[in-house]
Amino acid sequence: MSGFVTVPEPEQVPGLTHVHTGKVRDLYRDGDGNLVMVAHDRISAYDWVLPTEIPDKGRILTQLSLWWFERLADLVPHHVISTELPDAAPAHWKGRTLVCRPLRMLPVECVARGYLAGSGLVEYRQSRTVCGIALPEGLEEGSELPAPIFTPATKAEVGEHDENVTYEDVARTVGAETAARLRHLTLAIYGRAKEIALDRGLVLADTKFEFGVEPGEAAGTADLAAEPAAVGEEPRIVLADEVLTPDSSRFWPADDWQPGRAQTAFDKQYVRDWLTSPASGWDRAADTPPPPLPDEVVERTRAKYIEAYERLTTLTWR
Ligand code: ATP
Ligand code: MG
Repeated sequence: MSGFVTVPEPEQVPGLTHVHTGKVRDLYRDGDGNLVMVAHDRISAYDWVLPTEIPDKGRILTQLSLWWFERLADLVPHHVISTELPDAAPAHWKGRTLVCRPLRMLPVECVARGYLAGSGLVEYRQSRTVCGIALPEGLEEGSELPAPIFTPATKAEVGEHDENVTYEDVARTVGAETAARLRHLTLAIYGRAKEIALDRGLVLADTKFEFGVEPGEAAGTADLAAEPAAVGEEPRIVLADEVLTPDSSRFWPADDWQPGRAQTAFDKQYVRDWLTSPASGWDRAADTPPPPLPDEVVERTRAKYIEAYERLTTLTWR
């Protein structure tokens, strides 16, 4: 059974038109036509947005994404225009708001995996493949793959699961040329990020990117592959959304990595574990909303997000 999502009404800000509310972010259009992305402190687990927020989470993820965008800029253009608060925006938006280029998002969750975990592990155990890619025998939970792989998924509607698809499915959806470029970019960015993370003592097991194209550059999905914007010129693929945060990635402490068991996670695993423990009293199968998180769970989860930020950036969170 899929979860049910209720999120607060978006704040109304003069000069901004609200265009979308996601599980974590509210999106607005400003007077220049740019996209204003506000990351709130909401947290989701098991396809539910939980009734309790994690203080500062939206700011932490925004600052971490910005840090990564800068470190990847020579590999791929990104969507951020400015971190300046729009006029009339409430003060608490500071640090959690990005003014971005509005893109036509490609309908593919571009996942790279260097290690076996999550839905990859489930599929491997059934068929020794991940997204249709054959893998060697004998891999265990948490094993490093012989080489990182591109394992795309469809972007699910709110409250639904993302679903793994094959590379051929992606090629059918966005065209062969664009599919090839998405795979190339995803693996190139993952490769760079994996090294940076490992330098900081973190294993980047897997991660998800979302890409878009400038709306003017191609008329429709089919055109993306068949008809580039100008002769000899491909439509520019731009890295969007959030990148390489604990919400979009699995980070594991490298000194504790050991295949053959569940790894210590740097994300909301602590929340998931509490929700499914007897202490929460929540029956995940019963399609009832999860209960509020106790203060201790909130504090430990917040500390995990801060630790991920501080270890990756080597900056001090304030
Ligand atoms: P989840 O990330 O948990 O799946 P979600 O995707 O529903 O949830 P949020 O992350 O809360 O939503 O909202 C961000 C939304 O903005 C996503 O739908 C994403 O595809 C979209 N988005 C990100 N960057 C851009 C951009 N530059 N132009 C247009 N849309 C964008
Ligand atoms: Mg998202």
